[in-house]
Amino acid sequence: SVAMRTAVFRRAVGFAANTALRDRHAEYTYAGLWRCSRLLADKVSESLEGRRGQRVAFLCPNDASYVMALWACWISGQIAVPLSPLHPESSLKYFVEDSGAGLLMATPSTATRLAPLAAGPDSAASAPTLLLIGDDLRAAAAADADPRLDGEDRAASGKDDGADGAMIIYTSGTTSLPKGVLLSHGNLAAQVQALLDAWRIGPEDNVLHALPLHHMHGIMNALLCPLAAGGRITMLPKFSASQVWTEMLSEQPGRVNVFMAVPTSYAKLVDEYHATVGSTPEGRDHVKDTTRTKMRLMASGSAPLPVPLFERWERITGHRLLERFGMSEVGMVLSNPLEPQSERRPGFVGNPLPQTRVRLVRPATDTQPREEILCEGDAHGTTLRVKDGKPTVGNLLVKGPNVCTGYWNKPDATAKEFTANGWFKTGDTCEFVDGAYKILGRTSVDIIKTGGYKVSAVQVETCLLGHPDISDCAVVGLPDDTWGQSVAAVVRLREGASDTHSLDQLRDWGRERLPPYSLPRTLRVVPQVPRNPMGKVNKKSLVAELFPDADK
Ligand code: ATP
Ligand code: MG
Repeated sequence: SVAMRTAVFRRAVGFAANTALRDRHAEYTYAGLWRCSRLLADKVSESLEGRRGQRVAFLCPNDASYVMALWACWISGQIAVPLSPLHPESSLKYFVEDSGAGLLMATPSTATRLAPLAAGPDSAASAPTLLLIGDDLRAAAAADADPRLDGEDRAASGKDDGADGAMIIYTSGTTSLPKGVLLSHGNLAAQVQALLDAWRIGPEDNVLHALPLHHMHGIMNALLCPLAAGGRITMLPKFSASQVWTEMLSEQPGRVNVFMAVPTSYAKLVDEYHATVGSTPEGRDHVKDTTRTKMRLMASGSAPLPVPLFERWERITGHRLLERFGMSEVGMVLSNPLEPQSERRPGFVGNPLPQTRVRLVRPATDTQPREEILCEGDAHGTTLRVKDGKPTVGNLLVKGPNVCTGYWNKPDATAKEFTANGWFKTGDTCEFVDGAYKILGRTSVDIIKTGGYKVSAVQVETCLLGHPDISDCAVVGLPDDTWGQSVAAVVRLREGASDTHSLDQLRDWGRERLPPYSLPRTLRVVPQVPRNPMGKVNKKSLVAELFPDADK
């Protein structure tokens, strides 16, 4: 496979005159961004005294400075460690220290947040220096009117080895302390190529980007893919439902035609729709007509997409959301098809992306000493290893050029998450049924064992979200002397819903929709279900906070 340099930079050379990015300040061509990235790369090399393979942690707002920081790391042969303004101080400190960053980069607007971690009069001798990405560099990139790149640029764009480290991405920390995932240029190239093929991303695309830039979704799917394809990115400083609607409904030529977001963002867009653009019959027609003709692809991921939300979105826009499954360690793995849209089935995450292999396994137990392989699949299809008709629910394993080389600085975690023959254990429970895969949730927190049954928290959540009064919910398992675990629902009620909901009412409503053992035995109404910027619920801390006795 082509190395990342080739995937992004050779194409950057090829598409030099194209617009790569529009942010809240300006528009930038590939050539302009590239030339200014090279200037920044020279400063990086100078700060690191010519060393390569160093970790460079950078904190940028969602604008062109981020792209230049990332490219400068790669041009100078370093490992990029992207940080987010959404991270609290303690996380920034942990990421900088854990990655052993030899250099920090920030812009004038973010520098004060990294300054306490950088070398100064009171700091440790080993503290990294802080390199400022001036606003003048961004302005220079925007003003650069030369559409060509010269031979030197071509030479600089082809030097990389696919095995070299490209980036450390920290996992979301949903189940434990975030782990740094070391991805090589080859890993990134494979991940890019799979998505370009499966979603046919090309130079005509304009991707609306409103995602955090420290996470796979915002970095790989919505940024590196369009950049590798010679496409264009419209980058918002942060997610705003009204701004996203404005961009999606803009009828100026060349505006956004692709949108990728997390499920909670789609939920906010639905609320905003009812309050504004979709509050009149003409408005509703306008939204449907415009999104249908203008938007080519709308995708969802990072957390489960509830079936009722999928249906609401289809009613509003006529688009069936393309849900896919991925993680920091392996990039995107499973995806619903681009075409036909009718085969994007709610509740399913589709089938393996090109180059990736997946397996569902039942782990070894006391009575069954060998791991049992239930099925194995790739982009061409899935073969059952058990009798047809037998349920194929198991732990999802992944193999392929997309899979990371391991965790940074955590040999024990690396040893634990890979099998002896190199399969990565996702930690998610998955089902292969009716020709596609379904994510049932994290094996450690979302598979609730109650009275001899295994209940998928994700499936109970998707059901409860169909209740007209419930606007958000998280289902958890609580320790229970009788049942082993019992199902508890934490719900947020819709505005205007009466707050007198009782557990009995909810169970009555659920009885027609869920098997009896899946019905919640505990109900807690909260003003807000706590979610991180990727829309994920940390269920361990939710239980600790709401049910403090559960640990005892
Ligand atoms: P940590 O590994 O630190 O606990 P994390 O697993 O949440 O955090 P990420 O790598 O950002 O960190 O997220 C990957 C996880 O997100 C997957 O293992 C899966 O549980 C969840 N996920 C991603 N996409 C989907 C999806 N479409 N449906 C359900 N779950 C999803
Ligand atoms: Mg994880």
